[in-house]
Amino acid sequence: MSHGLLVFAATIGLATTFAAAAQQAGKPFDPMPQNQRELYRFDLKKNFYAGDAEWQADMDRARQQIASLETFKGRLLESPATLLRALDGRRENEDLLIKLYAYGEFTSAIDTRNRKYIDAYQALRAEADARTSFFAVELRALDSSRLKALLEQEPKLRRYSYALEAAVRQAPHVLSEKEESLLATLGPALSSWEPALFQLSFDRTAFPDIEASGASRNLHRDYATLLKDPNREVREKAFREYYQKLRELSDLAGFALLKEMQANNAVSKLHGFPTYYHEALFDAYLSRAELDNLYGQIEASLPLYHQYLDLKMNRLAKGMGVERAEIWDMDVAVKGASEPRFTADEGCRIGLEACSVLGDEYARELGKLLDPKNGRLDIAGGPNRGQGAFTEGNFAYFMDNYQGYLDDVATLVHESGHAIHHQLVLNHQGSLYFGDGPAYMTESFATFNEWLLRDHLQKTLKDDNMKRAVRAQALDEMMVLWEIARRAKFEMVSYDRVASGEISDAKGFDKACEDTGRPYDPFFARYPELEVHWMRKHHYWEVPGYYFNYVLAHILALTYYQRYIEDPAGFPKKYVAMVSQGFDRPAEALLKDFLNIDLKDPKLLQGVFAMMQKQLTDVQTEAETSRP
Ligand SMILES: [Zn+2]
Repeated sequence: MSHGLLVFAATIGLATTFAAAAQQAGKPFDPMPQNQRELYRFDLKKNFYAGDAEWQADMDRARQQIASLETFKGRLLESPATLLRALDGRRENEDLLIKLYAYGEFTSAIDTRNRKYIDAYQALRAEADARTSFFAVELRALDSSRLKALLEQEPKLRRYSYALEAAVRQAPHVLSEKEESLLATLGPALSSWEPALFQLSFDRTAFPDIEASGASRNLHRDYATLLKDPNREVREKAFREYYQKLRELSDLAGFALLKEMQANNAVSKLHGFPTYYHEALFDAYLSRAELDNLYGQIEASLPLYHQYLDLKMNRLAKGMGVERAEIWDMDVAVKGASEPRFTADEGCRIGLEACSVLGDEYARELGKLLDPKNGRLDIAGGPNRGQGAFTEGNFAYFMDNYQGYLDDVATLVHESGHAIHHQLVLNHQGSLYFGDGPAYMTESFATFNEWLLRDHLQKTLKDDNMKRAVRAQALDEMMVLWEIARRAKFEMVSYDRVASGEISDAKGFDKACEDTGRPYDPFFARYPELEVHWMRKHHYWEVPGYYFNYVLAHILALTYYQRYIEDPAGFPKKYVAMVSQGFDRPAEALLKDFLNIDLKDPKLLQGVFAMMQKQLTDVQTEAETSRP
């Protein structure tokens, strides 16, 4: 197996050179030449069900499992053996549900008109949740000493200690069954209309069309494209008019956000938390102190971010031949760098080579996933397809339309990272159930692969212009840290201010946006429009208290990368051991036990910042020496 991999890897260097040569010759780029489009499709018959009868059999089996789980109602804690049987049963049920979910997701992603399997799954999921909700209720009777005794009497329960400890940890924050049920009934009325109102206020607003590069583009739908338009006047007009529209909408959007934050805070207060944000952190096994520690370090290193912005603005200004670049110029390509493109075959091979540093097992599993003959990829575009890219469990990976850009290959290794994480957990723990953990952890695993890819390309690409493009893109990606930290901080500050009454309308959010934005980003002082910048992230309405996951995932992925560079031989083993372990303990403990990463360490980010500084210096030096 490993011999085969070596041969596979040896052909990659050649393939990379071919793509570069084809591009230089000016031939149109085809991401899937020679009828490969059909190769890059799922084989759901092979990987899931040969037909509807087999699928229905699994649906029936899942219902039977739920029925037998119900027999534990009222006696979950009667003995350690009973508890173990119940938890084993629930794990098996969850494993089957994950498969049915994946099948539903994939069948509807490759043909959005086909809702049969996903709808059936969702009904089954709701049924499973309702009929097994007694688990949470009965486990509430556990406290640490009783749990300790259970684990001593039945050591096989240790497998589930994370879930059991979570129940103990939650217990002081859970109300009576009657009160919780009341809150659950009222939940949608309290906090589901706000994101709908946010969306409605956009839908009701007429965003004008703007003439750009000979086409008519909609200000809302095509905003990203308009900001890349070669005509500077078009870009400025798009920016100014877009933010003017946001300003007009901000009263309604702000009203919805205020009501949502007030409702969330009120429920969290009932559960014994100062704000909803504190509860969201508690649920993720994080604390305000840990977050404050990270923000302290991120903000102390703001000069590094500002140095990067200066470099970027100066390069843009020089490229355009103007005195200074403006905010609407930020998405224009920098001159002197040409982005490489990779066919799907090349993307898969390069992704595999880049991530093979993570060891034999990782490479073997990734090789199987990325071999299109195995039917676990569906990445060629077409009609009636879902959007974006996603992975479910260890099964497979969907992407709406692979175009061979760096971002596409990065997405390929990112999504593969999710799949291989689940595969390793399955290999080592015998169940996908243990792969379920906090989003910042699972996202950090996926994002680390992107760094391995960029690292690999920077080391192996032969063409200087392409290398420059990859290096500059890596720098941009690193520096995203300050942007997402600012956005996450806005939400945290807003929850505090809504709780204290300091925010009572949309103007209050404008101020919170300015207050958090100004220290981070010099644009806030230059463009008054940016006070409504908070309206650009639908997350605040749709997934409240989620945004900090992006900050943490970014920090962790960069930390893994920096540790890997420091110790390329030793780090991968420790890292893969952590990933394979699954979530048998809180994330904080996993990081500490396997990688000696301490989220409370006031110097945690020092190495990452040094690495960023080096990348910045490299890009800067390159910019200075490569000028014509
Ligand atoms: Zn992801």
